[in-house]
Amino acid sequence: MKPLREAQGEVIAGIHRMGTERIGIEEALGRVLAESAVSSEPIPPFPNSAMDGFAVRASDVASTPVVLPINEDVPAGTVPSMTVEPGTATRIMTGAPMPDGADSVVPVEDTESGTSDSVTIVTGVSQGSHVRPAGGDIATGDVVVEAGIRLSARDLGSLASIGVSPVVHLQPVVALMSTGDEVVEYTTENLGPGTIRDTNRAVLRGVLDDLRIPYVDLGIVSDNVDELREAYLHAADVGDAIISTGGVSMGDFDFVKQILRESGSVDFWKVAMQPGKPFAFGNVDGVPLFGLPGNPVSTFVSFEQFVRPALLAMMGATKLFRPQIQGVMGEDVTTSDQKDVFVRVMLAPDSDGSFVAVKAGGQGSNVLSALANADAFAVVPVGVGSLSAGDPVKLEMFTWNENRGLDE
Ligand code: AMP
Ligand code: MG
Repeated sequence: MKPLREAQGEVIAGIHRMGTERIGIEEALGRVLAESAVSSEPIPPFPNSAMDGFAVRASDVASTPVVLPINEDVPAGTVPSMTVEPGTATRIMTGAPMPDGADSVVPVEDTESGTSDSVTIVTGVSQGSHVRPAGGDIATGDVVVEAGIRLSARDLGSLASIGVSPVVHLQPVVALMSTGDEVVEYTTENLGPGTIRDTNRAVLRGVLDDLRIPYVDLGIVSDNVDELREAYLHAADVGDAIISTGGVSMGDFDFVKQILRESGSVDFWKVAMQPGKPFAFGNVDGVPLFGLPGNPVSTFVSFEQFVRPALLAMMGATKLFRPQIQGVMGEDVTTSDQKDVFVRVMLAPDSDGSFVAVKAGGQGSNVLSALANADAFAVVPVGVGSLSAGDPVKLEMFTWNENRGLDE
């Protein structure tokens, strides 16, 4: 069996990065930045008030109360025309540029309105109070978002603040198919004898949608040499990556290998992980092919461990793997000590706030309901084999965004 980490390394080494394009910020959510976004100006661009109040010289309000004449009003979006001379003030709104001469803002709460052209300052301020300096958020030349980041809504705000249209990697188009004579469309109302509804394509389309990766759904392909060959060749034609499920167990696989001999190469792996030991990886006409095991939980785990990181790498991302955090096992578990085992667990906080993990249901690789109920994988590594209630455990948070590179 191939160690999981080694297998993941081979997959990442075996794919290529997509090209790049410049797009609008409105299209950029979830895309991976290809060129670091650098600010060509300071943000904020000018010193401005953090409060509604009065721009003053701090030395003028050192002893209070003090009455200051108001030279003008400066709402946000306008520019001061007057200098704050000693012993005067400008009425200023949040976000408005600071007038020359003033070094501080007295919030309106610390004043009493006198006449319309004077103000009584009740509480003084120290120099620089409530002033947002130019460049206080971002300095000229700062890298605002680094290349390799998959853009979040917050990153879009940072890009917008510096007026940069991002250069991002293209998204791979995934060609997707399920295989198996027993598999029928999930819209089937009355299942015929020996048939099951296709759950894998429902899950895979969902995870691709989550990644905002486009796909071509090639449907269900039967276990027939000619149909399979045609489907894989068509997939290579329309996709930048191919995902198929089913047909990767030992016997079946030789069949696929034969089919693809002329147009590509694909290897059958036995990975030291559970679920998801059988996995096929290769290419059809140069397009990477990920052959996932048919059992629905195995499909998901293999997608998480191999395909998601590989697609992220194709998209140019530097972070490929989900966060792993420390938790506590809430019950005894016994697993194979020959494999990295991904136990599907539900999490609940204990009295000190640690995550306590209990099995989310049956651990068979066909038990999709337990996976659907799960919050995380409790990872029981090769060589461990069993954990007792109260033992520390590594939790892989498959609902959180990736934060690890290959060697982390
Ligand atoms: P296979 O990898 O083709 O040997 O399939 C392993 C198990 O997964 C079998 O019990 C299949 O019936 C089941 N299976 C295969 N494909 C799917 C699918 N698309 N949806 C649900 N179950 C499937
Ligand atoms: Mg099958």
